[in-house]
Amino acid sequence: MIDPFGREVSYLRVSVTDRCDFRCVYCMSEDMTFLPKDEVLSLEELDRLCSAFVAKGVRKIRLTGGEPLVRRNIMWLFRRLGRHLDSGAMDELTVTTNGTQLHRYAQELKAIGVKRINVSLDTLDPEVFQRLTRWGRIDKVLDGLAAAKRAGLEVKINAVALKDVNEHEFDRMLTWCGEEGFDLTLIETMPLGDIGGDRVEQYLPLSVVRGDLEKRWTLEDLDYQTGGPARYTRVAETGKRLGFITPMTHNFCESCNRVRLTCRGILYMCLGQDDDADLRRALRANDEGVLSAAIDEAIGRKPKGHDFVISRRDNRPAVSRHMSVTGG
Ligand code: SAM
Ligand code: SF4
Repeated sequence: MIDPFGREVSYLRVSVTDRCDFRCVYCMSEDMTFLPKDEVLSLEELDRLCSAFVAKGVRKIRLTGGEPLVRRNIMWLFRRLGRHLDSGAMDELTVTTNGTQLHRYAQELKAIGVKRINVSLDTLDPEVFQRLTRWGRIDKVLDGLAAAKRAGLEVKINAVALKDVNEHEFDRMLTWCGEEGFDLTLIETMPLGDIGGDRVEQYLPLSVVRGDLEKRWTLEDLDYQTGGPARYTRVAETGKRLGFITPMTHNFCESCNRVRLTCRGILYMCLGQDDDADLRRALRANDEGVLSAAIDEAIGRKPKGHDFVISRRDNRPAVSRHMSVTGG
């Protein structure tokens, strides 16, 4: 699949549920209204949709959410998609998770063929963690991480950089990740969805964070690309990677190879734009040709890029949907 700007679309992110067992302050408001269950595609439908993308050239699928591992019977979908790894049709199946269910699933994920996972953890301080997630317990995530390590999964920790909240913890997190053998990626907050708070207060430019870290750490630029918007460095002192996802200070759109599917079957061609395509209707036509044509039509509308801005003058979200709808 080639979009109008010559970019090959080979990466599909799928938000398998908009629900979550946390309410991270930068991601959700405290009283979220989730989709009624009958609006959400069945796992069997998600498998059919994902497989249609694989047939059209998608080589990598990431399941995300909401919290993907709280969806009932989610391992069924992993197992189904695993067949595309076995056949060689797909290179990678992976997941972004908050880690609370990893103690149950790490082993099985590995057995299915998942190699690397992203686990979101913004702080190592139990109290800050509880405040940030509004009620989460860090112990459960740390247990999950231990299980992932035991299972032999490679782990990348994702941490959203938040002013005054975790900005003084990055040294500690780098050291900890080095000890645990995890890579670390820092993420700038993106203006997605109403969170019942002020994003200007949260926003911390990673250019500033990097400048500060470089006073104490040797960060060597790497060419390493995961098909994502992160720029990677190697931390000479630990040997592990440190990535920076900087949608606000660095425009990464020119190398974008991805599209995002929601659990309702809506395809977003760009995280930062509202244009979408309803693939549920095409899927329910039960005609492979109709679905394939609908996917082609959507890819033909993939925009050149986004224009996120977080400013004091205009503090509305750039797009109204939450990150938990489109998936991180
Ligand atoms: N629940 C899973 C998790 O937390 O990893 C997967 C979904 S979550 C929406 C995916 C990623 O998006 C997480 O790393 C989270 O920190 C990040 N995220 C959520 N809201 C964000 C925002 N407004 N700006 C930047 N990153 C955000
Ligand atoms: Fe849930 Fe992930 Fe959003 Fe946190 S970032 S509320 S864990 S979906």
